[in-house]
Amino acid sequence: MNVATAPAADLIIRDALIWGTDGPKDLAISDGRYVGAGEANSAGAEIIDAAGRLCIPGFIEPHIHLDKVLLADSVPVNRSGSLGEAIDILGARKAAYMVEDIAERAGRIITSAITNGVTHMRTHIDVDSACGLIPLDALLDVRARYAEVIDLQIVAFPQLGIVGDPGTAALLEQAMARGADVVGGMPFNEAGPAESAEHIRIAFEIAAAHDADVDMHIDESDDPNARTLEILCAATIANGLQGRVTAGHTCALAAYDQDYADRVLDMVAEAGIHMIANPATNLMLQGRDDDHPKRRGLTRVKELLARGVNVSFGQDNLRDMFYPFGRDDPLELALLIAHAAHMSQPDEIEAVFAMPTVNGARVLGLSDYGTAPGSAGDLVILDARTAAEAITGTVDRNYVIKRGRVVAQTETRTTHRLPMPGA
Ligand SMILES: [Zn+2]
Repeated sequence: MNVATAPAADLIIRDALIWGTDGPKDLAISDGRYVGAGEANSAGAEIIDAAGRLCIPGFIEPHIHLDKVLLADSVPVNRSGSLGEAIDILGARKAAYMVEDIAERAGRIITSAITNGVTHMRTHIDVDSACGLIPLDALLDVRARYAEVIDLQIVAFPQLGIVGDPGTAALLEQAMARGADVVGGMPFNEAGPAESAEHIRIAFEIAAAHDADVDMHIDESDDPNARTLEILCAATIANGLQGRVTAGHTCALAAYDQDYADRVLDMVAEAGIHMIANPATNLMLQGRDDDHPKRRGLTRVKELLARGVNVSFGQDNLRDMFYPFGRDDPLELALLIAHAAHMSQPDEIEAVFAMPTVNGARVLGLSDYGTAPGSAGDLVILDARTAAEAITGTVDRNYVIKRGRVVAQTETRTTHRLPMPGA
């Protein structure tokens, strides 16, 4: 290819160590997509020297609730610390929901997430009789306004149930028609197994009508009798939706006896369900009624991985009535899940790092995630050489690049004003 026909690179990244590859190489982005670095015309391109630092095609946040973030200061304290009390507090707060307020809070957290290297995000937003489509209106506005800097998927989430909250099925249908991307669900929040199955059936029907994926909150409970994951697996297989269904939380899976757990784990693998762990919130919310030993609410991460199931993780809630901390930093969550899931060996740490990167991309169905020619021109340069180093230090995301443009640049500097012994 000669210079006249070579694609004109807008951005060249030199000496980039792409996670999972053997050594550093150069990358080129033209018109928002990767092109072969050796073929690109670099005249006029911005040049970034990655200097052998670790690079990823962006962190994926697959499970957050942007309509609820930052509500902590405007609601009563969750005294029990439990999921149930959080939902009760939220119910009262929803009466005061306003589109502008939700959009402003969501925007602040999106900015924080981008600084942390998040290039794609999937947010659940409540759709129910209490708040109607107000959160949807807010997030449709946010998705449009932030479209240049982040890709946002919206899940219509019936937190109060579908069967148990009359009118919600119609609201879900409206939400999908107006631009929500994914049909959500919370089938355990129904009166019993028959209603849970009906909840899933209705959600699948709406998803089919819109050719949409399904992403449900499943068995977010310590109760070993919370068994809607099994129903979800069966429905996924029956509808031929392998690979298009995601289950978040699945805390009860950790509370099942081993025989039943093995059966359900096999079903999850057969159904090709993507699994999302939520280590921050479920460590905080679950086990509140237990005496010692306390259950810790984390799903069976290693057993799922051992069966070849795609596992990712998300922030879930952030500085609200569910969870008082968080800045939507995938490295912070990686450190948490490595502890909670006992993932300490070198290959296990690499498996943790896959969760908010390649695994998350599979959850969101991203076909152009990566740095191969033709892929979306997203890249995050981390101030680290290895995944373990990145997680250990929750290191700076030196550059966050979206479709070939630098969105954020961070360099934290510490000056030791007294000499460090040995230095
Ligand atoms: Zn959630």
